[in-house]
Amino acid sequence: MNVSAFLQRRNTLIERMQRAGGGVAVIPTAPEQLRNRDAHFPYRADSYFQYLTGFNEPEAVLVLIAGAEASSVLFCREKNPEREVWDGFRYGPEGACAALGIDAAHAFGEFEPKLADILADQPALWFSLGHDAPFDAHIIATLNTVRAQTRAGKRAPPVIRDVRCELDAMRLIKDAGELDTMRRVATISAAAHLRAMRFVAPGRFEYEVEAELLHEFRRHGCEFPAYTSIVAGGAGACVLHYVDNNRELRDGDLLLIDAGGELSGYAADITRTFPVNGRFSGAQADIYDLVLDAQSAAIAAVRPGATFVEAHDAAVKVLAQGLIDFKLLHGTLESVITSESYKRFYMHRTSHWLGKDVHDAGEYKHGEQSATLAAGMVLTVEPGCYIRAADDIPEAFWNIGVRIEDDVAVTVGGCEILTIAAPKTIAAIEAVMAEGR
Ligand code: CA
Repeated sequence: MNVSAFLQRRNTLIERMQRAGGGVAVIPTAPEQLRNRDAHFPYRADSYFQYLTGFNEPEAVLVLIAGAEASSVLFCREKNPEREVWDGFRYGPEGACAALGIDAAHAFGEFEPKLADILADQPALWFSLGHDAPFDAHIIATLNTVRAQTRAGKRAPPVIRDVRCELDAMRLIKDAGELDTMRRVATISAAAHLRAMRFVAPGRFEYEVEAELLHEFRRHGCEFPAYTSIVAGGAGACVLHYVDNNRELRDGDLLLIDAGGELSGYAADITRTFPVNGRFSGAQADIYDLVLDAQSAAIAAVRPGATFVEAHDAAVKVLAQGLIDFKLLHGTLESVITSESYKRFYMHRTSHWLGKDVHDAGEYKHGEQSATLAAGMVLTVEPGCYIRAADDIPEAFWNIGVRIEDDVAVTVGGCEILTIAAPKTIAAIEAVMAEGR
């Protein structure tokens, strides 16, 4: 574990808190979640907590004290030889303290009383109130414990601030280590899409393709898929969050795959669309190249100093003109954009932040102003076009759902496409699919 990167982040957060008057930040990890009866979902630490500690055990809380003398305290599970036989290694407070470079650590069971001592006479509590109701109850009980000591001269923090505001701003700019991990998970995920392209054929089922993706993620070390993979053949591609993945792939249909792995707590998010039989039809190729042109225009708008919304506006302009040219929309480019009639075929946004969470932390707007891009930010660029069967649409276009999504890091000179290894042009896709056929 690269302790210095986490130490640096904790120090940055403490400095930001000090500039805002100081206080105590309480950042819990995620609770374990039951899936059914006594079986749990695979455990994933809270992203904020993981960002500051690199620690992945459940039942843990980080406390940062941003006073004149700053310090960090971790509460975590105690060593327990009997439980460790069943559930595996636990660091325990002493071990975690040393491994993570934290100043002090205590057993998780001591959290409330120790926090009450820490919070007394502090100017502010920095906490994500409302995120986790059971944990909120612990915090409220602890504040009341401090308040009950008024006559002993102790005062509870008069101010509660949302620590996520500071952390979101920090997480928006990825450091070199984060970008390195994101490059790796992007490359693994691109290889998974390539594997799917080689595997797909009429008669295969969507879940078989999903299995190929998961195989590729896992064999390269991804802990999880970053989100539930969408493997949508034919009309399923026009359902934006289709995750049934249970249908047979048919000759002549397109297949849309939106899937990415998660590596060391960082997500990739890639969409590729390609023909089940390996050759695009005329109408499929027309729509595909239109979406690809829209994506190129959007990526060209990603550079430091540009605003977040510029990529979307660039994509919409290209898509709207194309849909007019194909007579799927009517009117002038200006009227189609102003009336938003293009939303019949393109109803989602072009980008979201990407990082530890697939829809990552970070503001998109400051008041009415779209966020300004800066080096170190990572966003998806993912225009699409979804044409459902309808009386006023020529049949050749029915059930064509195309999305092309890449992960793009803003650099000093422009941008870097992290997912460049996933084939994207019609020629490249058809060449890959022709291999071994
Ligand atoms: Ca996606």
